[in-house]
Amino acid sequence: MEKILTEEELGKFSALIDNASKVVICAHVSPDGDAIGSTLALKHWLTRKGKLVTVVVPNIFPDFLHWMPGAEDIKVYLKHEDEVNPIVEEADLFVIADLNDSSRLQEAEACVMANPAPKIMIDHHLNPADFCQLVVSRPDMCATAEVICHLLHQLGELETLTRDEAACLYAAMMCDTGAFTYNSNRAVVYECISHLLNCGIDKDKIYRNVYWTCSLARMRLTGYLLYVKMETVPEMNATIITLTNKERKLFGIKNGDTEGIVNMPLQMSGMRLSVFLSEDTEHDGVVKVSLRSVDDFPCNDMAAQFFNGGGHKNASGGRLYCGMEEAVLKVREAIKSYAHLLK
Ligand code: 5GP
Ligand code: MN
Repeated sequence: MEKILTEEELGKFSALIDNASKVVICAHVSPDGDAIGSTLALKHWLTRKGKLVTVVVPNIFPDFLHWMPGAEDIKVYLKHEDEVNPIVEEADLFVIADLNDSSRLQEAEACVMANPAPKIMIDHHLNPADFCQLVVSRPDMCATAEVICHLLHQLGELETLTRDEAACLYAAMMCDTGAFTYNSNRAVVYECISHLLNCGIDKDKIYRNVYWTCSLARMRLTGYLLYVKMETVPEMNATIITLTNKERKLFGIKNGDTEGIVNMPLQMSGMRLSVFLSEDTEHDGVVKVSLRSVDDFPCNDMAAQFFNGGGHKNASGGRLYCGMEEAVLKVREAIKSYAHLLK
């Protein structure tokens, strides 16, 4: 396991925690498994230390994460703004988890940034922005939850986590690595898991909760998107899938029901890039872009150059401020300009 903090940082971290009583933990918009698992693990841990802790996320998170212990108490800013504002205003410490830039708090950003209380960032995204008093940023790690595992190990607490804390951390790492099928070749990841197993987690059940549980709507939608909506650009080894809000309604699906569909086209041999475009359910005229790639195709560069976004080399995203048809044209243009890396 790695020593993640210098002695000076460790002192700062401990002092910030010791001096806090009301803690707000935030994660990024469209929270994924790592965002939800990492924030909940930290919440349980800090609650055990006697803090009053609230997890605040900008918008809703998918159903397949609702089984996580404590998920029912997460405050969704877009749904509970009036209730959340006073909690954020009274916080005396923020933990910013799985989030590298305050803009990814979206509607919750103004309220969080208006409170001058100290902020600790714990994250693994590239290029952390400078708005926190203590930054624990490790883009080489597979998930924010892995960063937390090393931190807890350094504090001598990784062996004595509760089952709930360990389950949240395991689920978070599992989600950010596609159940340890990508970004998961560092042996130390499995050292973390070994500790979590010793805390009593049922990792097989966690897998089933996340990946082997879906609604009829999701099952039907998957078939429809792959059969009807997937456009292949064979000479470029790329695919484009689009999903409109009208189709969401037709299938009766919720936000998280589309999770992971973007990965599927990459099962086809030779495919190097998969693009998933979906109309934003909360903002008109916005199309969300999800990108997945294999090997060394840098889809984060493409996201930054064409889609106002970023992310990791093989999993990135962004958004376009236009309608679906124009968005598809933009994607085709992006694919063309990366032809030299795709062919
Ligand atoms: P997803 O496709 O699951 O929404 O996002 C995959 C990854 O892309 C995320 O983990 C995040 O790192 C990155 N990402 C997605 N949307 C954005 C965005 O709007 N801006 C930036 N900088 N990164 C994004
Ligand atoms: Mn993450």
